[in-house]
Amino acid sequence: MGPSTDAPEVLEALIAAGMDVARINASFGADAEHSRRVLQIRGLARRLGQPVAILMDLPGPKYRVADLPGGSIELTRGSRITLAPESDPSVAIVLPDKEMLSSLQTGEEVYLTDGSVKLRVLTNASGRVDCEVVVGGAVRSGSGVNFPESTLSALIPTAEDRRHIQFAVEHQLEWIGVSYVQSVDDLARIRAMLPKSGDGPYLMAKIERRQALAMLDELIEAADGVMVARGDLGVETDLAKIPMVQKRIIALANAKARPVVTATQMLESMVKHERPTRAEVTDVANALLDGTDGVMLSAETAIGRYPVAAAEMLQRVLAATEAENSCRIATACLRENGSEASHDSLSFVACQLALRLGAKAIVAPASSMAAALAIARFRPIAPVLIATESEHLYRSLAAVRGVSPLLAPPASDSLTTLNLAREWLLARNLAQTGDALVVLSASSGTPAGPAALDTLQVAQV
Ligand code: PEP
Repeated sequence: MGPSTDAPEVLEALIAAGMDVARINASFGADAEHSRRVLQIRGLARRLGQPVAILMDLPGPKYRVADLPGGSIELTRGSRITLAPESDPSVAIVLPDKEMLSSLQTGEEVYLTDGSVKLRVLTNASGRVDCEVVVGGAVRSGSGVNFPESTLSALIPTAEDRRHIQFAVEHQLEWIGVSYVQSVDDLARIRAMLPKSGDGPYLMAKIERRQALAMLDELIEAADGVMVARGDLGVETDLAKIPMVQKRIIALANAKARPVVTATQMLESMVKHERPTRAEVTDVANALLDGTDGVMLSAETAIGRYPVAAAEMLQRVLAATEAENSCRIATACLRENGSEASHDSLSFVACQLALRLGAKAIVAPASSMAAALAIARFRPIAPVLIATESEHLYRSLAAVRGVSPLLAPPASDSLTTLNLAREWLLARNLAQTGDALVVLSASSGTPAGPAALDTLQVAQV
């Protein structure tokens, strides 16, 4: 979301184009602007009868160059430059974090202006750091600084993050994007700030630091979702490795049944142009084939000239790719997961059965994200219709590939759920009377988690 998506008709067109998740990037704009956007999205989504989750993306400890005399400085390859925490006329670049600067080691790389300028540390005298310019270029006041080889000194969540987390809780947002996460403790500290009911925002760990890649398994396990944050990853790691890193993160998230979003520069040229490049549309399709749950647009919609065309293009590429591949993906997914004996096994059988019968949907009541993911992880071709009485879960599930959430009235029984599913399918021309449905339900009547879904039936539309 951004200035280019603020007009109600633009937002409405984005939701109509299939936007399931709206990201509010807390690095930009004030609380009042965020509140206005939340209200606007909620109102429109309700009117259109479509679940839209809101993701509040935390700024995290982003390091920035302080004000430069004249606003910018040109660094030439092979020259020397000094970084220091305090303003000193003999120092060219001031960074306001002494602890971070003091920790830099000789030989370490420092990147400026989102990776386009590269320095190497020569000496460090208590935070006064002399560097050699390895790749030159212009550096402007306020531009971003990355330390790919260091552990960041600032604790996550930062004081500013805490304010935004509070905002997300107060506005009952569905997801929080945790920027620069580098340890499981970062997530635990944020989780401790969320309501104990479990109805608070889900945590999406943004994988963008080298340290995060080194402990991917634990981080994905501790998070509720994952983002392949290719923007910062492309600075923090070798750009050439991004395609395989993306595949590795997505595969692990799939294996652990965590929704995963692939982000940044998906249709970058559409910030200025009405049509994307061939390479960009291929990148979108490949993310889908890698197994991503979502693809994210950033500048394309937030500040771009063609926000609606970008969202529609994304949707068209995804639909065309799925049309050719969903059967192959579903079959491969079932084959790969087939040997796993776990509480997911009835969900697995439901997906197998749906494939064999050509069922038009898999229907289940769920009161937890885990119950829905236990089915969606097998990537069935048929939509997974999850009925829930929780508005928060209803909207949160919009981030999960293959799941269409249904908002059920309080104390719904299995017949109400089934009827909701029938209406949903018929209203969208996705089924006809007599078509098969695979239905999971809980004999206990209270569908708490995946294990409670213990009954499997075949029903008809
Ligand atoms: C990224 O770095 O890819 C990302 C999604 O983060 P942001 O847009 O907040 O920089």
